[in-house]
Amino acid sequence: MTVVDANDRHHYQPGYLFIPFGRYAPERVEKSRRAHLADGVRFIEAEIGRVNPAERSVELIDGRSLGYDWLIIASGTRPVPEQTPGLTDPRIWYAGSPAPDQASAFDFYTLDGAVALRDAMDRFEGGRLLVHVSEMPIKCPVAPLEFAFLAEDFFRKRRIRHKVDITYVTPLDGAFTKPVASKALGGLLDDRSVRLAADFAVERVDPERKHLVAYDGRALPFDLLVTVPINMGQQFVIDSGLGDDMGFIPVDKQTLRAEADDRILVIGDASNVPTSKAGSVAHFQVDHFAENFQSAVRGEPLRSLFDGHANCFVETGRGKGLLLDFNYETEPLTGVFPYPGVGPMKLLGESRLNHLGKLAFEQIYWRMLLPGRHLPVPTLMSIRGKRLPAETS
Ligand SMILES: Cc1cc2nc3c(=O)[nH]c(=O)nc-3n(C[C@H](O)[C@H](O)[C@H](O)COP(=O)(O)OP(=O)(O)OC[C@H]3O[C@@H](n4cnc5c(N)ncnc54)[C@H](O)[C@@H]3O)c2cc1C
Repeated sequence: MTVVDANDRHHYQPGYLFIPFGRYAPERVEKSRRAHLADGVRFIEAEIGRVNPAERSVELIDGRSLGYDWLIIASGTRPVPEQTPGLTDPRIWYAGSPAPDQASAFDFYTLDGAVALRDAMDRFEGGRLLVHVSEMPIKCPVAPLEFAFLAEDFFRKRRIRHKVDITYVTPLDGAFTKPVASKALGGLLDDRSVRLAADFAVERVDPERKHLVAYDGRALPFDLLVTVPINMGQQFVIDSGLGDDMGFIPVDKQTLRAEADDRILVIGDASNVPTSKAGSVAHFQVDHFAENFQSAVRGEPLRSLFDGHANCFVETGRGKGLLLDFNYETEPLTGVFPYPGVGPMKLLGESRLNHLGKLAFEQIYWRMLLPGRHLPVPTLMSIRGKRLPAETS
């Protein structure tokens, strides 16, 4: 078994969210990849240039070629700010800016972006803050909402909340993709006096006037823009002819086998499965993968079917959090998670325990998930003990 990755630095990406608020130091989210691999797994630190399914080989940028019998692609997604005209203009964009302390447009989906944004948040003394999602899908679609909630709390604690006008700008018709969750999260934005600019299909950024401009002509001025740039699959996926328009790999959504080639399986954000791109999803997928992979090698049908299960902790600020649990077919429900009737996590409602759960998850991630230890949480979504909010009223 050989793992190929462009670098040895494994990032706990959920930690990026806390860096701009000074809650996590950047070093806390980074560890050696090699050190987490089991004995007997070969690690090659190199960038993949192309996959050649016909010859069953992977070409590395440094010229080496690796043959394979089976290929598992888990190359994730990447933010591509250059896709939005004007966004990376050096007058506003933090990266490559000649005067970084005057930059006004940032992302927090990269470690560098989160660190630069921390400094900008500290400098910010008031004005218009836009928290913006460029286009769906993005990984962790709740993260920008969490950023808006935490920013509200951050400015409140700095006693300048009254000087900051926060607007959440999204291409969706509400706060989130799923109608039930969208209503709950939209209500929380309202409670925190965060404006919502929905159906905002961004056309460009005007760096001169500092405006975010939509195709329908709306222009939102900003003093600080926190954007989630367009997310795409990796370039090697596109160059290998394995991806769709956005570079995501079409797969059978239950078996995760690539449509283009039986010898390729895809895990995590790199595929086009119609559920959230999230670490929790990658984790649940892997439980199915182990059994399916053995069946595939034996030439048998893949029988362990993935249901699209996603589980997202949403930081809502003020020491609370909310938990969403859904799959391909079922909207987020109220009730408790992970054990029916027992919980202890409350679904679709704010609680202190959900916030503590999100914080505790960091240690579970490093100590249990990454080394591959079993986590006693059901892989498939269960609806036992759960109800749609309409049924509860
Ligand atoms: C701010 C933020 C907050 C988040 N919060 C949560 C959360 O609370 N809960 C949750 O479940 N998820 C969360 N996520 C999402 C989660 O981090 C991702 O869904 C998860 O990391 C996806 O795993 P992956 O293995 O598919 O891709 P990744 O973890 O992105 O890994 C992809 C790997 O592929 C490598 N790679 C890419 N291209 C090449 C190449 N050409 N050659 C060699 N190697 C390559 C990269 O170096 C990388 O190591 C968050 C993400 C962000 C950005």
